Amino acid sequence: MFDISLSAFFALYLSAFFLVVFVLLRFYEARSTRLHQIQCQKVLFSCTHCNSLYTHSSTEIATCPHCKHKNIRLQF
Ligand SMILES: [Zn+2]
Repeated sequence: MFDISLSAFFALYLSAFFLVVFVLLRFYEARSTRLHQIQCQKVLFSCTHCNSLYTHSSTEIATCPHCKHKNIRLQF
C-alpha cells in the first residue's frame, strides 16, 4: 500500500466532505430553481360561474375543474 500522514489523511477527508456538500448544494439549488420556474409558468384563473380560483399551465383559456366552465386568465 502507500503511506499517508495523518494530516494529509484529514486534508483529503475534509476536501472530500466539502466537495460532497458543495455538489449537494448545487444539485438542490438547481432543483429548487427548476421547480420555481415550473410554478411560475402556471397561470391563475377565476371562474365566473362558481367563483373558484384555480391554476393551469400557461394558456389563455382553461376549463374550471369544478363546474367545467371555460374562463380566461386573470390579468394583473
Ligand atoms: Zn367553476
